[in-house]
Amino acid sequence: MTELISKLELKKINHFVQKVQQVAQKIDIFCSAILLQTRRRFYYVFNKLEIDTSLKKRTGNCLRCGRCCHASFKCQYLEYDKNGLSLCKVYDRKPLMCSLYPYNESDYFYHLKSTCGYRYNDE
Ligand code: SF4
Ligand code: SF4
Repeated sequence: MTELISKLELKKINHFVQKVQQVAQKIDIFCSAILLQTRRRFYYVFNKLEIDTSLKKRTGNCLRCGRCCHASFKCQYLEYDKNGLSLCKVYDRKPLMCSLYPYNESDYFYHLKSTCGYRYNDE
C-alpha cells in the first residue's frame, strides 16, 4: 500500500515537473521572440546596407507556416486558408519588418530556424 502511494506521488511529481518545464520553455520562447523583434528593428535602422547585401544571399521560399507571425503575440492580420497555409490580411502593405524576415543568418526566431523555408548560403 505504502509502495502504491509513493508510486502515485512520484507520478504526480513527475507530471508537475513536466508542466513546469513546459511553462518555462514557453516563457523562454516568448522572451527570446520579444528580444529578437526589438533587436532586428534597431539593427535595421543602423545596418540597412548590410541587410540589403545579406538578403541577396537568402535562398528558399516562405512555406507559409505562419509561425513567425505569432512568434510572440499572434498578429491580428494572420489567417489560415482551408489547407492550413498562412494568409496575411494586409499582404500588399505588410510592414517592412515582415517582408525582411529573416534578413540574415542571425535573424531567426531560434525555435523556428530549422523549420523556416528560407536559408542562407553559408549555412
Ligand atoms: S517561419 Fe519562415 S516559412 Fe514560416 S511563414 Fe515565416 S518566413 Fe515563411
Ligand atoms: S502583418 Fe502579415 S506578415 Fe506581418 S506578422 Fe502580421 S500576418 Fe504576418
